[in-house]
Order: sequence, then structure tokens, then C-alpha cells
Amino acid sequence: MGKALIIGCGGVASVAIHKCCQNSEVFEEICIASRTVSKCDALKEKLQGTTKTKITTAQVNADKVDELIALIKEVKPDVVLNLALPYQDLTIMDACLATKTHYIDTANYEPEDTAKFEYSWQWAYREKFEEAGITALLGSGFDPGVTGVFSAYALKHEFDEINYIDILDCNGGDHGYPFATNFNPEINIREVSAKGSYWEDGHWVETEPMEIRREYNFEGVGEKDMYLLHHEEIESLALNIPGIKRIRFFMTFGQSYLTHLKCLENVGMTSIEPIMYEGKEIIPLQFLKAVLPDPASLGPRTKGKTNIGCIFQGKKDGKDKTYYLYNICDHEECYKEVGSQAVAYTTGVPAMIGAMMVMTGKWNKPGVHNIEEFDPDPFMEALNKWGLPWKETYTPVLVD
Ligand code: NDP
Repeated sequence: MGKALIIGCGGVASVAIHKCCQNSEVFEEICIASRTVSKCDALKEKLQGTTKTKITTAQVNADKVDELIALIKEVKPDVVLNLALPYQDLTIMDACLATKTHYIDTANYEPEDTAKFEYSWQWAYREKFEEAGITALLGSGFDPGVTGVFSAYALKHEFDEINYIDILDCNGGDHGYPFATNFNPEINIREVSAKGSYWEDGHWVETEPMEIRREYNFEGVGEKDMYLLHHEEIESLALNIPGIKRIRFFMTFGQSYLTHLKCLENVGMTSIEPIMYEGKEIIPLQFLKAVLPDPASLGPRTKGKTNIGCIFQGKKDGKDKTYYLYNICDHEECYKEVGSQAVAYTTGVPAMIGAMMVMTGKWNKPGVHNIEEFDPDPFMEALNKWGLPWKETYTPVLVD
């Protein structure tokens, strides 16, 4: 069917690449390009011979638009799947525009020097992408990603109007370390140490970090504490789900994680303000990343399950209705299949599916779009087929 250029070769990319290789009919050819090309070569070595997908590799600094343009011109992909870091979103979008190539990512742009993530920077490309006749699919991971697809599906099939969405992200996995993050530590810590916020009655309500705590009993995991966080899909869902009154996002954290995080914050280790150390400027959070376990190394150690989904409340045929859509994923099963833990798996699989939707033309809408703006049905079908089957219930316990 076609060719994808995948940028980045970390935890999430590794899963997406395994999945592309399982799906050779669609991904006849992939080029894996990243800053450290040896990682791309090692993955190619592992996978070729097990797949019909032709794999090539390349070195690229995705902060440099010129390098990206040259690479895209050489590889001539049908789509670019951005699985590097949020800092590279805009340079990669610029290169896609210059070469008229479709673009897919899993996380919205964040400037490196400000811990602030919002869609405005990427939405500013809407007209340019439309004029160029190319599609940008934003946020094709799990959250954002599947949570947006779940919302579009619920609106299409279950409700006349959705009024409340609670997104619950539970990781019941245990990796045995006192403190480690399940995806890129720098991005993860920036996210969880930021102020919380939720959308209510047409505006944002801001909270202190981890101020709002709830307990929830998750199927497959059990009782967990979860905390309200700001999360990027709230911003797009607030625009794209008509009649919405409130959207909240909760993520579970264990006590050990929170105690370590507080301590690291208190001593200044999570700061992104540069400091001088022995004559060299360093950023404390980047130094912390260097001493923490690499999320990719957690795979063989992590046991337990994730349970991520959305609880919807709204109206159907004039009556109140509640609906919960969720996925349960097992860390050890993921490791057996693709050598990664479930957090990378639940992001990498939807990334492959998003690239497939755009490449096969099932989703073709020139412009810059969030995932809930597309027809959810083929994506929901693909989730069942490619390793993230979903479950539903009409009688969930609600979050107060
Ligand atoms: P990793 O740190 O494991 O991988 C990032 C990769 O990007 C590495 O291969 C890195 O190269 C490469 N990279 C970084 N900077 C550059 C650059 N300038 N040029 C080229 N390559 C570069 O991160 P993860 O795999 O954990 O996360 C990937 C993305 O997925 C992030 O944007 C994250 O926010 C997102 N994510 C989304 C989720 C969702 O549900 N939507 C959930 C989890 C993550 P090198 O090897 O040299 O460091």
C-alpha cells in the first residue's frame, strides 16, 4: 500500500514500528529516522527477516527543518509519523508542508523552555495544510488519541448530546523501582508537576498540582488513588463535542511516586530553568532524566495492567444516559509481543493505526485536525484487531 517515515526511535516508536511490521500489507516500507541512528539500526536488525515490510534507517536532527526536508525528499513517504518529542512538532510540520506530505503525531507542541502545552501553535497551521491539500492528524496515541476516538464513537452511536466526560487513566503496573516514569521522564514530569485544570461551563478551572484526588476501583487493577491533571485532549474535545458542560482528566499515581516527586521538586531537581554547574549550563530536569531508569528498560520488569477509558454522561432520546468505554492492557503480554511495557504499547498501537487511517485514505481531510474530528468506526475496528480491544458498560461507577 505505501511508505511511512517514522521519526524517533524511543519507547513509543519501537511499538509503532513493531506494529507496522505486523501490518506489511499497509506498511510495505518504513524508514526509521532519529537522532541516534544506532537505535534505528538495532531495531531494523531485530525486525527484518520477521516481516515483509522493507525497513530502512536514517540519521536526522528533527530540530532542523532543512534536514527534515532533505530526508523527506529522499525517502518520499506517503505519511510522516512523528514519534520524537513534542518539541519537534512544529519543525516536522514545516517540513511536511514544504514537501506536501501528510503528518501524524501523538502529543501537542511544547516549547522546550516553557512547560506549557496547548494546541494553538499547531492549530495555527490549519489554513496552510488545507491549501497544501495535506492532512495533519494530531494526537494519535491513547490519551490524547483513543480517548478522542472513544468520544467521537460515543457521540455517533450512543448519545444525542454528551454533557460530561471523565477520562480515567490508570496504570496498575509495578516495575519494582521506587521511582521511574513510564514514558520520557522529562515530558512526564513536566506534565504531572504542572497545575491541574478542567473544563466547565465554557471555561478552564485551574487547580494546584495534585489538588483533587479521588479513589476509583478499576476493573483488572483494583482500588487506586487518582489525581486531576491538565491534559491536552480536554482543549480539543471542549471545541469538538457539542453540548459539553465538563471534561476532567484523572491519572493514578502510587504514594511512592508522589513522595519522590515532591522531594525532587522541593530540592529543585524538576526545574527547567538552566543553572551553572562546574562551568557548564545544565537543566536540572534533563540531568534528572539522565539518572532515572530509561522507560524502555522497564518492559521486562513491569507486571500488572493498565485500564484507560472515558465515562460519558448525556442524553439519548430525551433520557439521561451513562456509558463507559475503556481498554485493559497487560504489561507482561505487551512485553511478550513487542518487548515493551503497556504504556508504550497503548500509545504505539494507536500511532500505527492513525498512520494507517491517513495512508489508506480512510481519513483524508486536508487541514490540521484532532482525532475526534474523523469517523471513529474504522479506528475502533482497528483497535480490536491490532491489540487494544475495548470494553463498554452502561452502568459504571461515576466519579463525584
Ligand atoms: P523517548 O524519549 O523514549 O523517545 C524519543 C525519541 O525521539 C528518541 O528516539 C530520541 O532520540 C528522538 N528524538 C528526540 N529529539 C530528537 C531530535 N531533535 N531529532 C531526532 N530525534 C529526536 O520518548 P517516548 O517514546 O516515551 O515518547 C515519544 C512521544 O510520545 C512523546 O512526544 C510523548 O509525549 C508521546 N506520548 C504520547 C502518549 C499518548 O498517549 N498520546 C503517551 C506517552 C507518550 P535519542 O534516542 O537520540 O534520544
